[in-house]
Amino acid sequence: MNITERIRRTAEADPGRTAFVFKNETLSYGQLWHRSGVIAKWIAESGITPGQPIPVYGHKNGWMPVCFLACTRSGHAYVPMDTCMSLGRIRDIAAAVGSRMILSAENDRSEAGKHGLADHSVSEVLESLRADYDILDPEKMEIVLNFAEGIRQKGGNYCIDPGQENRAEDVQYIIFTSGSTGKPKGVQITRRNLEAYLDFSEGLIEPGGHHVFLNQAPFHFDLSVMDTWTGLATGSAVACVDHGMIEELNELMAFLNRAQITDWVSTPSFAELCLGCPEFRQELLPDLRTFLFCGEALGKQTAGRLKERFPRTRVINTYGPTETTVCVTAVEITEEMIRSENLLPVGYPKKETGIYAADSSGRRLAAGERGEIVITGDTVSAGYFRDPERTMKRFFRTESSQGIAQRAFRTGDLGYVDEQGMVYMMGRMDSQIKMKGYRIELGDIEANLQKLEGVSGAAVFPQVKDGQIRSLAACVLQSREEDQSYARRKWIRRTLGSMLPSYMVPRKILFFDSFPMTSNGKLDRRKLEAMI
Ligand code: AMP
Repeated sequence: MNITERIRRTAEADPGRTAFVFKNETLSYGQLWHRSGVIAKWIAESGITPGQPIPVYGHKNGWMPVCFLACTRSGHAYVPMDTCMSLGRIRDIAAAVGSRMILSAENDRSEAGKHGLADHSVSEVLESLRADYDILDPEKMEIVLNFAEGIRQKGGNYCIDPGQENRAEDVQYIIFTSGSTGKPKGVQITRRNLEAYLDFSEGLIEPGGHHVFLNQAPFHFDLSVMDTWTGLATGSAVACVDHGMIEELNELMAFLNRAQITDWVSTPSFAELCLGCPEFRQELLPDLRTFLFCGEALGKQTAGRLKERFPRTRVINTYGPTETTVCVTAVEITEEMIRSENLLPVGYPKKETGIYAADSSGRRLAAGERGEIVITGDTVSAGYFRDPERTMKRFFRTESSQGIAQRAFRTGDLGYVDEQGMVYMMGRMDSQIKMKGYRIELGDIEANLQKLEGVSGAAVFPQVKDGQIRSLAACVLQSREEDQSYARRKWIRRTLGSMLPSYMVPRKILFFDSFPMTSNGKLDRRKLEAMI
C-alpha cells in the first residue's frame, strides 16, 4: 500500500467526502489533498534541507492533518507537539529536531486553552518559538493558499509534484515519548513501518460500509495513528475529541452522538470516564460496531460494562509501544475471557510480528513463563532520533524462523505468551520494588486486583517511611454504587491473599470512583499517588 496514493485516490474520486470532524469545522478529502499539496510546495521551495523533520504544533483542528500530509508529500517527517505540553518540553523537542521551520495549526487567538502540562497560553508559546524559528501559522498558510488560487486562476498550478513524497524507507513521523532521564526520545516511524501497521489495523474494523473513527488521543500520542491513518487509508471520517470536550462530559456525549461513530479508538481510562455517564450506551451510538483499546491495561469490569451497554459492539484489546508502531496484537474480548481466572489477554501478534518473553539475559522463555516482552518484525522502529546510544540499548537485530533479518525491540513490559501464542501483559518491568527483602512487581498486584469482582482499575504504590519502603497502598477503582465498607476492604485483601504471597497484599486499600487522567487519556499515576 502507498498511503499517500490512497488518500489521493479518495480525494479525486470523492472530494466532498468528510475526512475530519472537529468541534467547529469539518475537512473534506478534497480540501485535505489540495491544502496539503499547496503547503507541501511551499515547504519544498522554502530551502529547508531535504529530509529534515519538521515539528507541527497544535491541537485538534483542520490544519493539523493538512500539515502532517504536507510534510509527508514534501518528503519530510512530521513531529507532532500538542498544546497540552509545557513550553520547556516544546522547546526541547524543537531544539532536538533542529528544523528552522515549525508549522503551527494554531494562531495567537487560538481557543486551545491550557490543559495537561501546558504552563503557557498558545500565544505565549508561539511568541517564544518565533524568537528562534520561522513559524508557518494558519494566517500565513491562508496567504499561501490565496497565492496558489491566484496562480490557478491564471491557468497555472502551485502544488507539490507527485513523486516528492516520503519513500518507503523515509521517516514518516517522529513521536517524542518521555525518556526516563527526562530527555525526550524521538521514536522514528518509517513509511514502511506505518504501511505494515495499516495492513494490520484495516483488518480490525468490520469490512465494508462507511466508517467514522473516534479520535480521542492527541496527535503526539501514537494511539492517534490508529484512528487517523487507518481512517485515511480506508477513506473514512475521523471525529476528533479535544481537551475541552473531555472536561465537559455533556458536550462530549453530544459530540459523540452527532458524529455517528462506528469505530471507537481510545484508552480504557477514557472509556471508563464515559461509562460514568448513564446515557453512554448503544442508543447514543447506534452505529458503533467496534471498540479498539490500546495504551494501558483493559480491566475486566470495563470490558464487561461496555459489552452490557453496547450489545452490538465488539470489544477489541490491542497492545504495543510507540517503538513498534501503535500496536502489534489484537483480540476480541469474549464473555468467557471475562469470566476466566486469567487477566484479559492483549491478543495474538499480527502477521509478520513475533513476540516472546525473555529472561534478564535475553534468552527466550518457554510458553507461560514470565519475562520481558520482546517484539520483532516489520513495524519495529528505525530507532530513536539522533540517539544511537539509547537505540542500541533497546533495539537489536535478529533473524525470523525463516532466517530473514529483522529488527527487534525490548519493551520493558512484563508478560508472557501462552501455548496458543496469546500474549498477556502484566505491567512495566520498572515497577519492580524491593520491600523487606522481597522483590515485588507492582504490576503483578495491580493485574490481580483487576481480576476481582467489581474492580475496574487499580494502582499500587509503595509507602515510604525514613527512606524505606514499609508497606503498599492500593487505589481501587470501582463504581459509586459498589460497597466501600471495611468488610469489602477485608474481602479484597483476603481474596488477593489467596492469589499472591502475603507480603504482596497491600496494607492500605483506598476506593475511587474515578482516577485522574493524563492529557493522553491514560491513568495519571503521579497525580493519583499525590492523592493518597
Ligand atoms: P505508548 O508507547 O505510550 O503507546 O505506551 C506503550 C506502553 O503502554 C506499553 O509498552 C505497555 O506498557 C502499555 N500498554 C499498551 N497497550 C497495553 C494493553 N493493551 N494492556 C496493558 N498495557 C498496555
